[in-house]
Amino acid sequence: MQRELRKLPSVDALLQERAIKRLLAQSGREVVVASIRTVLGEARLTIGSGQPCPDTSTLLGRVVASVSEALRPTLRPVINATGVIVHTNLGRAPLSVEARLAMERAARGYSNLEYDLEAGRRGSRYLHAEDLLSRLTGAEAGLVVNNNAAALLLIPAALARGKEVIISRSQLVEIGGGFRIPEVMAQSGAKLVEVGTTNRTYKRDYAQAIGEETAALLQVHHSNFRIVGFTHEVHLEELVELAGEYNLLVFDDLGSGALLDTVAFGLAHEPMAQESIAGGADLVCFSGDKLLGGPQGGLIIGRRELIASLREHPLTRAVRVDKTTLAGLQATLLHYLKGEAVEKVPVWRMIATPLEEIEERAEGWARRLKGEVIPGRSAVGGGSLPGQTLPTYLLALTVPSPQELARRLRMGEPAVVGRIEGGRYLLDPRTVLPEEDEGLLKALEGSLTG
Ligand SMILES: *Cc1c(COP(=O)(O)O)cnc(C)c1O
Repeated sequence: MQRELRKLPSVDALLQERAIKRLLAQSGREVVVASIRTVLGEARLTIGSGQPCPDTSTLLGRVVASVSEALRPTLRPVINATGVIVHTNLGRAPLSVEARLAMERAARGYSNLEYDLEAGRRGSRYLHAEDLLSRLTGAEAGLVVNNNAAALLLIPAALARGKEVIISRSQLVEIGGGFRIPEVMAQSGAKLVEVGTTNRTYKRDYAQAIGEETAALLQVHHSNFRIVGFTHEVHLEELVELAGEYNLLVFDDLGSGALLDTVAFGLAHEPMAQESIAGGADLVCFSGDKLLGGPQGGLIIGRRELIASLREHPLTRAVRVDKTTLAGLQATLLHYLKGEAVEKVPVWRMIATPLEEIEERAEGWARRLKGEVIPGRSAVGGGSLPGQTLPTYLLALTVPSPQELARRLRMGEPAVVGRIEGGRYLLDPRTVLPEEDEGLLKALEGSLTG
């Protein structure tokens, strides 16, 4: 064993090898040296367990592999063949070409992010989305923060700190990743007062809970679940009426929020930001990267003086959005203003794709891969339209081990994520961007034969 250990080259000796010199020219010295140390350390362990010393070319190969692993970005593109359109684990909304270009332009150089070009002095970053949000929703004013969770922290912090906010027990939502809306809101310093029961809450429940300390009534959209059967909830209009009697505010968390009517696409009605403003909510908040189809953001719209107080609150600085987000969001909102969202915003294009078109694509895939085309369902996802699905066609692959195929596809480049059902591997063309088709088919051909 000692003799074998002595055969092991030193770090310096390996650094003199041609293959390593080539590696040094492309990668940083630290990462190469760290990889050499790791590879030598592992070799010492295997020698210690009685194995012979690996030859130098084996060691060099391991160093090259280790360096390339260390330099490989962990955040990688994924082809989403799951059929879930707004897939939170896969990065939610893919962006329109225009949104991507706007983000790239904002990232490339300087911009007037907080500079008033006309006056030649400091301006506000919040102007870039405000006018668009007002035009699109009818709200007096708007503000964009880091995400909707941040909006739910900021709103009560600025407007109900040390006071009470009333919420129905049927709306105590846990969103993905174990985050609970009431727990996020409690961090604001406001006290949440729960009323009603899981399935039935009436206007009188809110009314009875209103006291000296009450600042607001809160409505939270059931993003990811449905309450069916013997149920009752209070409509926004009734909350607004009640709030009017007691001089309280009404906050409406729409979750996904939509600017277009989902009913036009054969789905149930998802609450729309415009409706909530028209219905009299004082502040409405929703995500930028769910059904809106833009970058991550928390959009807050509503009454001018309330938005002004939010803007001045110290927390706003802690949850502010960056320039690339604002650029992408502005471009996304412009699609709605121009009436071209269904054609340009990928989330809506996917929702609106005609069934025949999906079937044709699935059949094209089937011809290349020898699979079977079967009818199935796609989901909108992303905390919108719980339980609602769209008819689709799937490519079904029958293989000895669908789990093994799924693993290979996940580990490939590009990574592909589909789903396994009834012992078959299924791919939904609805969520695969047309320009990804070729990459997907190559990945599948490689994984099916390899
Ligand atoms: C998704 C969701 C949130 C959180 O939004 P993020 O943008 O992910 O922070 C809050 N409330 C509801 C009802 C949601 O569906």
